[in-house]
Amino acid sequence: MKLKLRSAQLTPTDIRELRNRIDGEVVVPGDDGWDEARLAWNLAADQRPAAVAIPDNVGDVVEIVEFARDAGLRVAPQGTGHGAMAMGNLGDTILMKLHRLRSITIDAEAQTARAGAGTIWIEVVEAAAEHGLAALAGSSPDVGVVGYTLGGGLSWLGRKLGIGANQVTAIEVVTADGRLHRVDREEQPDLFWALRGGGGNFGVVTAIEFRLFPIREVYAGILWFPVDRAGEILAEWRAWSDGLSDETTSVGRILQLPPIDEIPEPVRGKSFVVVQVIHLGSEDEGRELVAPLRGLGPVMDTVAWVPVESLAHLHMDPDHPVPGSGDGMALDDVDTDTIDAIVSHTVGAPILSVEIRQLGGAIGRSHPEHGALASLDAPFIIFAIGMAPTPETLAAVESSVASLRAALEPWESPHTYLNFAETRRNPKSLWTETSYKRLRRIKKAVDPRNVIRSNHELA
Ligand SMILES: Cc1cc2nc3c(=O)[nH]c(=O)nc-3n(C[C@H](O)[C@H](O)[C@H](O)COP(=O)(O)OP(=O)(O)OC[C@H]3O[C@@H](n4cnc5c(N)ncnc54)[C@H](O)[C@@H]3O)c2cc1C
Repeated sequence: MKLKLRSAQLTPTDIRELRNRIDGEVVVPGDDGWDEARLAWNLAADQRPAAVAIPDNVGDVVEIVEFARDAGLRVAPQGTGHGAMAMGNLGDTILMKLHRLRSITIDAEAQTARAGAGTIWIEVVEAAAEHGLAALAGSSPDVGVVGYTLGGGLSWLGRKLGIGANQVTAIEVVTADGRLHRVDREEQPDLFWALRGGGGNFGVVTAIEFRLFPIREVYAGILWFPVDRAGEILAEWRAWSDGLSDETTSVGRILQLPPIDEIPEPVRGKSFVVVQVIHLGSEDEGRELVAPLRGLGPVMDTVAWVPVESLAHLHMDPDHPVPGSGDGMALDDVDTDTIDAIVSHTVGAPILSVEIRQLGGAIGRSHPEHGALASLDAPFIIFAIGMAPTPETLAAVESSVASLRAALEPWESPHTYLNFAETRRNPKSLWTETSYKRLRRIKKAVDPRNVIRSNHELA
């Protein structure tokens, strides 16, 4: 193996060499298109890598990894850049943008899907729905399937069917030595375990295979109330959420919607407290379940019997790149004091959305066959986000989200959830102690020179 260990500055010869070695593209500082190439989905992320490499195929992925390793650089795989805010300084890193490795195959009989590294959730959701199947997708239609799953994967169906990573059946990955592996329960079980919840620390994933579920419809939607009822409605929702079966997932949320065209006219520029409900069961059962919340007199009510694929839009997440800043934390409880803290630090602050998602059910149950994120013990998780189109708004949102997090420290769970952490965290807080130690051992074995870097590194 060549070991050159140069400085992070790529010479024109280096760049020519990499361009010659791949079918895809290499963009470096000073090139036309540099500013576009370094953009992440989150437009507030100011990514300044040594180079951006855009592979066209798996062979390119191998070449880029080998080139970076031999040049003494690191490689950061990126699917969409939804998680780019936590990335940190990329000066010694080639940012590998994987959006061209986009493919989706559904095996309707086996009830599985195979997605290429650049595939986004809406593509899987829609392809699966054609066969009456549903995936454990998250709230956003254009989050990357691979990044989401490597970090865990909290789905609207999670309380019934668990964390997304634990429904993965096989992963294809290029490790730092430039080898392509197909790992599963039998082949390299340690690496397979680490990839399912350990984040993007172990290699560049080129494809992922996972189970689908025969679900066509759900009873789901949103109950909207005026924001001045935030404390009351969140307390009612919290009491109602106790004792729900695993079939139901719910969210209590404050929304302060900006007056912009992307927001539908009836809610544009207005603020609300909302309850989101997703019930896997019959329509009658769902109606009965939601009746106490309807009794609170929502000003709008979209909860209905809907095709399961419509869950991709339930949360109203943007389906195109936006500048934003947010952060999350897992909570050991939500009581009236927690709700008071959330309301007083959110209403009127530059926070577009603060959501309290209910966890529990299958999300909280681990099994020996699960991966590195076997379960999440906390019963609730919070995520707050604001729009950040300018440095000034970014600073204001970061400060508001940080003070909300500080106010919620008394309820903070010792472990948080990687996918909801958009600031750098102590990596020990992202996994259990045993899992963290095992992840470090596996990282040392597959990537001793720490070539592959994730947005949440292990050390
Ligand atoms: C609007 C919004 C809604 C969200 N909703 C949910 C939700 O409902 N549930 C949930 O669990 N999460 C949710 N998330 C969080 C999301 O799952 C994480 O940000 C996730 O990491 C995004 O993956 P990505 O590939 O889109 O982003 P990226 O920023 O491209 O990837 C994030 C990290 O994943 C790793 N990675 C990505 N692709 C590869 C690859 N091919 N090989 C190796 N490593 C790779 C890298 O370490 C990378 O830094 C949401 C985020 C946003 C912004």
